Amino acid sequence: MINGFGLRTLAALAIVLVAACAVFLLGDVQATLVMLVGGVAAVLAAVGTDDDADGAEAPAPPLAPADPIPTVIGAIVEPILIVTGGQVSHANDAARALLGGHIVGQDVRLAIRHPGAAERLMSPPSDVRQPSVNLVGLGAREQRWEMRIGDTPDGQRIVHLIDQTGSYAAERMRVDFVANASHELRTPLASILGYIETLGDEAGDEKGLRDRFLKIMFDEARRMQRLVEDLISLSRIEAEKYRLPDRAVDLAELIAEVRGSILDAQGEGGAPIVAEVAADVPPVSGDRAQLSQVLHNLVGNARKYGRKGAPVTILLEQHATGMVRLAVRDEGDGIPPEHIPRLTERFYRVDPGRSRAAGGTGLGLAIVKHIVERHRGRLDIESVQGHGTTVTVLIPAHGNAVIKR
Ligand code: ADP
Repeated sequence: MINGFGLRTLAALAIVLVAACAVFLLGDVQATLVMLVGGVAAVLAAVGTDDDADGAEAPAPPLAPADPIPTVIGAIVEPILIVTGGQVSHANDAARALLGGHIVGQDVRLAIRHPGAAERLMSPPSDVRQPSVNLVGLGAREQRWEMRIGDTPDGQRIVHLIDQTGSYAAERMRVDFVANASHELRTPLASILGYIETLGDEAGDEKGLRDRFLKIMFDEARRMQRLVEDLISLSRIEAEKYRLPDRAVDLAELIAEVRGSILDAQGEGGAPIVAEVAADVPPVSGDRAQLSQVLHNLVGNARKYGRKGAPVTILLEQHATGMVRLAVRDEGDGIPPEHIPRLTERFYRVDPGRSRAAGGTGLGLAIVKHIVERHRGRLDIESVQGHGTTVTVLIPAHGNAVIKR
């Protein structure tokens, strides 16, 4: 480009100049013809194509806009597929991780290979929202996905997979929990009702029999009471789950208090409870009543399942992590390793008969786990069969305080 004039413009000017010179030299009719030819040539030169042009006069054709779909679906964490003409035209990372890297270009029925999906994937397009479909076992056997489909006006189909595995497991746990709790309550209730009926008949007249039945009824009612108390505890702890306890609690003092109250309640002849408390253990950040419940439940278990007459030991020390370590050790039969991961599930018992006979509700360790979680602590159960069990709880220390003893 020369000062704003392109080559085509210069060519047009040159032609007009030549034509003007010709008019000057030749005169009337011929001059008119030459002017006409010259003018036409000039216009053609100005508007025609010019391979020599430096590109400034003809703006470059606009770039084709980038396909926005990969960016948009790439930002979504759940699997998304775009289906065009029955084939997967786009899939985000989550979809490729779930269904395989090769799905783009594949028939969507092959990409989502599930008997429950094919019919819905091939249904005619609709502008009314269709009900979702549950796909059990897609990806992994225990996984559950909800498949939602939407159709765009230009004939594309958007397939959205939502992972429902967690919420399904939570719902199943809730249903199981209600069923278990009802069963645990119904058993002593049925027993009490049975004895009331028998006492109302002939057995009520005989003092020995009546006293024996009343004792059984009392024990069954106490069992129901313990269960209801544990259920209330669990729901309270769960309700406070996200409220971090922040009071300074001196666990050494709490151990002395709990130990004293258990020994008082058992009277003469029970197994000894030994407290091994290190010096200078800092207070923990905690909820005193809940930590007392942890101690009661752990010592209670150590006494229920420990060796008869053998001591139960409570240990307290500062752990290498800086947290405070509270442990309860017994010398019982121990727990087979395959049961250990499940002990904190509600109503899970290694030996249900033994637990019930000892007055267990099956909720003690579930309560401990929830309390420890609320305190942002850690729970660990170690057991050697034939030697005993140690349950350890780590609780964060309160600030940097240290108690001197
Ligand atoms: P339970 O009321 O039945 O004692 P828990 O939730 O406290 O319920 O414990 C669950 C199960 O874990 C018990 O039924 C028992 O089988 C086992 N268990 C707990 N603590 C011990 C222990 N110290 N020694 C052996 N088994 C234990």
